[in-house]
Amino acid sequence: MQEYTVAIFGAGIIGAFIFDNLTLKGVKCVLIEKTEDVSLGATKANSGIIHAGYDCERDSLKAKFNVRGNALYFDIASRLGERIGNTGSLVVGDKNSLPVLKELLSRGEYNGVKNLKILTRNELLKLEKNLSQEIEYGLFAKDAKIISPYHFTIALVEESLLNGGEIKLNYLTKKIKKENEKYLISDGKDEFYAKYIINACAEGVNEIGKLLKEDEIPLTYTKGEYILLDKSEIGLVSRPIFPLPSEKGKGILASVTVNGNTFFGPTAVDVKNYDTSFSYSSLNLIKSNVTKMIDNINFKKTIRLYAGVRVKHGKDFFISFDNKNKNYIVIAGISSPGLSSAPAIAEYVVNHLIDDGLQTKKIDFKKRTPYTNILTMSQDELSNLISRDKNYGEIVCNCEKITKGEILEVLKTTPYRLTTDGIKRRLRVTMGRCQGSFCYTKLIKIMSEFYKVDEKEIMFKDHTSLVTSDIKEGGIYDTK
Ligand SMILES: Cc1cc2nc3c(=O)[nH]c(=O)nc-3n(C[C@H](O)[C@H](O)[C@H](O)COP(=O)(O)OP(=O)(O)OC[C@H]3O[C@@H](n4cnc5c(N)ncnc54)[C@H](O)[C@@H]3O)c2cc1C
Repeated sequence: MQEYTVAIFGAGIIGAFIFDNLTLKGVKCVLIEKTEDVSLGATKANSGIIHAGYDCERDSLKAKFNVRGNALYFDIASRLGERIGNTGSLVVGDKNSLPVLKELLSRGEYNGVKNLKILTRNELLKLEKNLSQEIEYGLFAKDAKIISPYHFTIALVEESLLNGGEIKLNYLTKKIKKENEKYLISDGKDEFYAKYIINACAEGVNEIGKLLKEDEIPLTYTKGEYILLDKSEIGLVSRPIFPLPSEKGKGILASVTVNGNTFFGPTAVDVKNYDTSFSYSSLNLIKSNVTKMIDNINFKKTIRLYAGVRVKHGKDFFISFDNKNKNYIVIAGISSPGLSSAPAIAEYVVNHLIDDGLQTKKIDFKKRTPYTNILTMSQDELSNLISRDKNYGEIVCNCEKITKGEILEVLKTTPYRLTTDGIKRRLRVTMGRCQGSFCYTKLIKIMSEFYKVDEKEIMFKDHTSLVTSDIKEGGIYDTK
């Protein structure tokens, strides 16, 4: 039977960072995920900001891990070949906002954040030309950054798999039993042993806890909805721009993704469960809030509405090593700034295990190769590539300019069956202004040929197929 030193449950950004950190230290690890891919929880729908750390409560775990996490991100991104935008961030307000901005600055300095500065309207306009008339002051946090959170998670998992880590997807754990010094873990079909269990399941944290007869961790949920604009609106804002914070949180911001899409949100709606629906009242709320800060927004350029859910346990993060079960570690309530804090949480948890006697060893490190991106190539490089493989000359997604060659490359290098949504998160196929209207059918055809299965067996996400009848040549559905 397979035997691992550490089993990490939950393939969000937290589980992925721990998996990567341990694998690179030569620890035999397995990452267990109940869905069909990594990064399908809160990690796929957030603002993608690596916060500087000025808004976390003094002496909180959030403050400690956010500031340390921010400092770790840049090196990890360059090792993985992941895009990171050194944008900085702004909190802006009207003529009465100075006291709040000064409090944020002072809290930030207390938390150890460097490079914070309060700017006046003229200085702000040099950074952001579309600030509304009302805006008089702003706090600039130079160290804030932006990333693609789901892409980063995918890259971390790919690096771990390349360096000896293992993954089990669609794994619905049914039993965990202590046998001597090890845990026997089973989904009824596949059983394995692990010495340590790390529970980073976010909304599913109690599913694993229950199997171990641990006390239930009370959780609350706050939904965050977003409006995403087409890339044509690039340049409207150049960095995350927040309003003054309230007791509800950091507020509805305007920002830009690493790929150049402007977006607005998130709302903060308390919900009873993991509810990712989008409501029209929220649409109006986002519009009215963001137009108080930013002028010249063309909401007609909206291409997508979506939502993510913050899973909270009280106000701070919860990390517990001291549980009923020995060698069982719980990481819960990782709401914002969990993305920013993730590398530091992983470092902290791994150091704790090492102090506890976990053996590490030097590995023969294999560097991850980022996916080919024809948009970053010179004309000569692209011509050479196409002469070696003509698939790189066949555009499948017109909006994002993604080729068949790039899609096949991801299908070949991913060691498990992807959904169309999985390809979307890796390459941006279907993510442009047509949202897949023109390329889904072509993508499904490529995938069905690659996996040698019927088009109806190519899943959109979960276990949902997009195809109900045959796709004809040219991408037309056969309706017979
Ligand atoms: C609207 C919004 C905006 C945010 N903006 C930011 C931001 O800009 N910056 C920032 O720093 N943070 C931000 N955050 C917070 C950040 O997104 C989260 O802290 C982070 O994604 C949490 O990661 P995670 O790995 O704990 O959880 P998740 O990403 O939810 O991952 C948990 C994983 O566990 C899996 N799972 C669940 N149950 C089981 C089980 N029984 N067995 C196996 N697997 C299981 C799930 O399927 C999921 O893949 C935001 C959050 C939201 C919702």
